[in-house]
Amino acid sequence: MLDKIIPLADIRYASRLPVIPASVAAPIGLLSDTLGRPLRDLRISVTDRCNFRCSYCMPREVFDKDYAFLPQGSLLSFEEIERLARIFVAHGVEKIRLTGGEPLLRKNLEVLIEKLARLRTPAGAPLDITLTTNASLLAKKAQSLKDAGLQRVTVSLDGLDDATFRRMNDVDFPVGDVLKGIEAAQRAGLAPIKINMVVKRGTNDSEILPMARYFRNTGSVLRFIEYMDVGATNGWRMDEVMPSAQVVALVHDAFPLTAVDANYTGETAERWRYGDGGGEIGVISSVTQAFCSDCNRARLSTEGKLFLCLFAHQGHDLRALLRGSYADEQIAAAVGLIWQSRSDRYSELRAGLPSDDGSVAAGPKRVEMSYIGG
Ligand code: SAM
Ligand code: SF4
Ligand code: SF4
Repeated sequence: MLDKIIPLADIRYASRLPVIPASVAAPIGLLSDTLGRPLRDLRISVTDRCNFRCSYCMPREVFDKDYAFLPQGSLLSFEEIERLARIFVAHGVEKIRLTGGEPLLRKNLEVLIEKLARLRTPAGAPLDITLTTNASLLAKKAQSLKDAGLQRVTVSLDGLDDATFRRMNDVDFPVGDVLKGIEAAQRAGLAPIKINMVVKRGTNDSEILPMARYFRNTGSVLRFIEYMDVGATNGWRMDEVMPSAQVVALVHDAFPLTAVDANYTGETAERWRYGDGGGEIGVISSVTQAFCSDCNRARLSTEGKLFLCLFAHQGHDLRALLRGSYADEQIAAAVGLIWQSRSDRYSELRAGLPSDDGSVAAGPKRVEMSYIGG
């Protein structure tokens, strides 16, 4: 019955229909998966489109003018997203990150943020609501996002050298406009701002120190991300990964660092503080130091499929339930069953996986990052 609801053309990746338990008595409320991990963090992709073509994420040879992005009608509406968010919050989610594609391309995003900002945890606390953006539209939107209830932003920026940055975003976008977006976010109070820099050896590793120097003493936290083998199109190679340990050593030589404890269990970044009080940096080492054992993140794709891991190749089609006239309690019970059966830990298993060509782990086609969000 349910499969008739989804037009076949919309199914981009494998998906399965969630099971609705006959009894709604369980599992509702706080959850843990098969490895004892709670559900705390929900990442919601609000569009699969982007105005950049970063080679590590949306290489232009694949994401070209013929690429079939999701049609408008298949996107979750803001009302549908709010309804699902409410269900996830009842299951333990405390933090929501809006992402994409480029989330600021989604029209009237402020309206969604207002809805999410009104939600409360079972203990009555507001949610931590944040957004990851390439900042191309941030100078224009920072104040309205803040007014709508957004608390913080994470900005992606892969270097300060204009030529290097333009090459990496592959749409000739200037660094100066991203920096203006960051300044606008600071003025609007969307702080503390995190800056994400994906490090590709041989492409932008020369930007590590200039970036560290620039963001010291600004209150923004620069995070160096290991280039990941996410998706199936970026041509990932291990020799282009710069291990975080080397990044930390490089920065430490110039500006001595000391290690800092995590802010909370499940934090993706390992924290380091400048010895002279210049602030802190983070490193996200998905490749060389997997952190699956604490992973409390679920991802909702733009058309409502729930993914339990960034490296998954199959989602759970919650949109079919939303549009299939099920009650909230039934959808909550289905989500509960899905989380309770979760055993994903791709990064921990990566090294032992078979490899096509000695570089990319083989297996079914994994979802693209631009589709489920970072
Ligand atoms: N467009 C927004 C942006 O770039 O901030 C949000 C979506 S983007 C997919 C989210 C994050 O994923 C960005 O910080 C980006 O740098 C990171 N990312 C994308 N592909 C990656 C890869 N192959 N390895 C590591 N990080 C990646
Ligand atoms: Fe777009 Fe962000 Fe992917 Fe770059 S990393 S292509 S800005 S979605
Ligand atoms: Fe979480 Fe999957 Fe990343 Fe491991 S590989 S930290 S399970 S998203």
